[in-house]
Amino acid sequence: MMFLKIDGIQKSFGKDGRREQVLKDISVDVREGEFISLLGPSGCGKSTLLNIVAGLNRPDSGILQLDGRDIVKPGKERGMVFQQAALFPWLTVEENVMFPLKGMPKKEAKEVAKKYLRLVQLSQYAGHHPHELSGGMQQRVSIARALAMDPAVLLMDEPFGALDEQTRMRLQGVLEEIWIETKKTIIFVTHSIQEAVRLSDRIIVMGTHPGRVLQDIEVTLGRPREGHLKEMAAYEE
Ligand code: ADP
Ligand code: MG
Repeated sequence: MMFLKIDGIQKSFGKDGRREQVLKDISVDVREGEFISLLGPSGCGKSTLLNIVAGLNRPDSGILQLDGRDIVKPGKERGMVFQQAALFPWLTVEENVMFPLKGMPKKEAKEVAKKYLRLVQLSQYAGHHPHELSGGMQQRVSIARALAMDPAVLLMDEPFGALDEQTRMRLQGVLEEIWIETKKTIIFVTHSIQEAVRLSDRIIVMGTHPGRVLQDIEVTLGRPREGHLKEMAAYEE
């Protein structure tokens, strides 16, 4: 059974005569633990597809299953990170990460927040407020917040798109470490080829009018992930 099954997804927007097909027959079988990038030009439907997988938007037709179960509405098994961090400004960094854990005893939620803040290398900023942090750091908080629910799938819509080149590289490194440590299944939207190649096991290339899958490429550079990390770290210094 496929871990995440995206099968025959169709989506149109607009009314009657002005209806435009935005997604045409999108099918992607996602394996557990895979890092998949959705790569394609602006307007090809990447966000629409990701929102459908997140349950934030409904497809006109098609199947969406996680572990053999239909997933239609948003659920805690899917965590989402957007281009803008959208943190609560009146809460501390730690409180922001704890926010999705409302049902959990506070002490336990604090431990979870600690764990993920360590993972995004922001332990020392737990008590700060978002406005005291740079854009890249805020985005790291939003990643920690998405991970706090321990979702089966992490969905990221151009999470580094608003950041400068240097910060972007740094966050790519942080995300690689997260992926190694948590073994999460990640679907990552980008329009940067370099970013997709650096991070992914697999790249789905999409085209426009209508949005569709052009290529499904396995990235096999024949090197262990950890080794690659060290190489990149050396390169960045
Ligand atoms: P991408 O993320 O690849 O840039 P989007 O998924 O945002 O692409 O958009 C794909 C197409 O769907 C665009 O032409 C966009 O204008 C259209 N679109 C997206 N959301 C809506 C909506 N809610 N209503 C109407 N058109 C939409
Ligand atoms: Mg988009």
